[in-house]
Order: sequence, then structure tokens, then C-alpha cells
Amino acid sequence: MNQYIEETKKGLVHTYNRFPVVFERGEGVYLYDTEGKKYLDFAAGIAVCGLGYGNQELNQTLKDQIDHLMHTSNLYYNTTCGKAAGALRRITDMDRVFFTNSGTEAIEGALKAARKYAFKKGTGRYEFVAMENSFHGRSIGAVSVTGSEAYRTPFEPMLPGVRFAEFNNLDSVKEQITDKTCAVILEPLQGEGGINQASKEFMEGIRRLCDEEGILMICDEIQCGMGRTGAMFAWQSYGVKPDIMAMAKAIGSGIPVGAFAMTEAVAEYSLEPGDHGSTYGGNPLACAAVAKTVEIFEREDLAGHVRKVGAYLAEKLDELAAGCDAIMERRGTGLIQGIRLVKPAGEVISRALDAGLVVISARDNVIRLVPPLIIEERHVDEMIDILRRVL
Ligand SMILES: *Cc1c(COP(=O)(O)O)cnc(C)c1O
Repeated sequence: MNQYIEETKKGLVHTYNRFPVVFERGEGVYLYDTEGKKYLDFAAGIAVCGLGYGNQELNQTLKDQIDHLMHTSNLYYNTTCGKAAGALRRITDMDRVFFTNSGTEAIEGALKAARKYAFKKGTGRYEFVAMENSFHGRSIGAVSVTGSEAYRTPFEPMLPGVRFAEFNNLDSVKEQITDKTCAVILEPLQGEGGINQASKEFMEGIRRLCDEEGILMICDEIQCGMGRTGAMFAWQSYGVKPDIMAMAKAIGSGIPVGAFAMTEAVAEYSLEPGDHGSTYGGNPLACAAVAKTVEIFEREDLAGHVRKVGAYLAEKLDELAAGCDAIMERRGTGLIQGIRLVKPAGEVISRALDAGLVVISARDNVIRLVPPLIIEERHVDEMIDILRRVL
């Protein structure tokens, strides 16, 4: 274990303070480290491994694809890209998809698509309104719309023309919209920012504002999408459809892949040949992962499963909170929930790991629970037992 840790520490740019654990293998909703210790996983590689670990159907599909073809470039057609795009179109109700390698790039592409739309329409608009406490990724474009000063300041100057509004405050969004605004970007449920759910009035109000101004609504569904809230995508539970949306994390079940998608009305005035591209984006292996992931999600009705287990998780967390002074409140829905603590969450997370439970934080003092979507009630019980002891 120490050898792996030492060689990693020596070799990598020090951007993460990692916990001293070396994971080697996963099975279902459990992870195993190099010492053979078993962990119940309520993090899913940061909301990525929706199907948990060792799904044989997914693994076999990936193995077959590796044997056939992993990569060709986007200069040619391949056998999985169209299928994956079709699957995403079906579950997103969007019309056009662009595949990326990460969430950050999906955001980057969504911003470019919105700027191109304004450009082609000749509106002279280029500004974005983004939300405080948002998280959209780490490239200069994505970090420019991320509502956390600590992430932006060392890399200034940022993209010009980004204004921040208060999440769940429609008046604040109105105040930030100018005749130069081309789009409003938000997560329907902020993950990194502390598990903050948009209210129905807020989502509906933003849709109305965007329509009135003739500007675009961009939803970042990278963390809250793919069944995690109990809807396939969080915006669907509001009945408010964005013009552009970004996905990543769970759509490839661990194969690095993201996507942004748009309606036909946007596509008609947006990116054209030469405007955008990616060497890896949507390669045969990534697309095989997306197509198979969506197939399993739909066949097993994982979103329906999340609604059931998520309700049970909420009930058990409420019970835990009621009997524990260290917890201020429960937050979130489905299988993206959190508990806000009176103190920073670091020590609890570290002790949970010692006790065989993997959880992560959101902001300083929220413990974020984003388990594989296949967890059952007994796993919730097991998690609550450990968390109660640790707290
Ligand atoms: C993780 C995340 C991103 C960035 O995705 P990467 O794959 O890490 O680049 C963007 N937005 C949200 C909401 C996220 O949770």
C-alpha cells in the first residue's frame, strides 16, 4: 500500500490531498483495498458508477468493443456512436448530441454553442449568468462560470462577461440579465455546492425569463442527471426543458465520457463543421459504454428504483438527524442527499473510511451521499449504522 502511495505522491502534481487508501477491486456496491479491507461505497467515484462495480453485462460489452476497435477519430463513422447518440436523445428529449471526454468539456461545448447561437442570430450577446455556489468544471471557460471564488481567483482574468446570481432567487437572476446576456447556466441540483435543490418557481421563472429575453437556458446535469434524483434528468421533474444540457459522470459508468445536447431550434443556429471538435470525443469504446449504460438504466428502470431507495434513505437520515446534535439538516433527494454538520465534515469522512464506509463532502460541512444507484435498503441500513457510530 505504502509503495503505491509513495510512487503516486512522487509522480503527480499535488492537486489532491488523497486519503491513505489504495482501492484495487470493486464488486456490486463494495470496494476492496490492497490490504483486503472491504468498504461500503456511498460515493460511486463521485456520482459516476451508477451501476456499481463488476456489472458483467457492461464489462462484456466493453471487452468485446476493445477487441473490435477502441478508436478511429471523428473523421469517419463507427458502429457505436450513432447508437449512443440515439440513446441519449431518447432519454434527454434533446435532438442533437456532441460527445466529449469529461464534464468540463461538456460545459465548455455548451458555452460555445450558446455563444455561436447568439453570433449567428446577430444579437451581439455574449454574456453568461451563472449561479453562486455552482460547480461546472476546471477549464478556464468552465471555472469562469463556477460560483466559487477560491477556484477562480488564482487563474484570473476569467472569461469576460460572466455575472453571478443567487441560486433560488429569481430577482437576483433578473438583476444580472442585460441586453448582452446570451444564456443562463445552472445545475437543477447543485452537487459540489452543498446539495442545493432548485425550487420549482426558480426553474420555471428562469425558463420564462429566458423565453422573454430570447436567450438560452443551459442545465448542467453532470452530477444530478442519469437517474440520480429519481428522474432520468433532474429538469424533467420540473417540467422545465432547457435549450442546452451537459452530461457526464454516470453516462459511461466509469469510462471517461461526457456530452452536451441541444434542441433542434438551437442546433439550427449553432455549431457547424469547423466550429468544434475532439480527437477522442465519442470514440467507439466510450460510445459502447454510453449505449449499454442507457440500455441497462431503461430496462431495469433504475430511476424508479432510485425513487424507492431514495425515499428510504431520506427517512433513515431524518431519523439519524433527529437523534444527533452534530447534524443540522438533511438535504437533497433520491440518491443525491447530504447531511449538513455543525462542524467541517473532514474528520467524519476520514473516520467513516476507517470504519469501512466511503463518503465524500460537499462544501466544508456537508456529507454527500451519492452511492451506486443499485443500492438496496439493506445497504442504507448498513451505512446508517456506521455513520451513527462515527458521528
Ligand atoms: C463533476 C462536475 C463537473 C465537471 O466534470 P469533470 O468530468 O470533472 O470535468 C461539472 N459540473 C458538475 C455539476 C459536476 O458535478
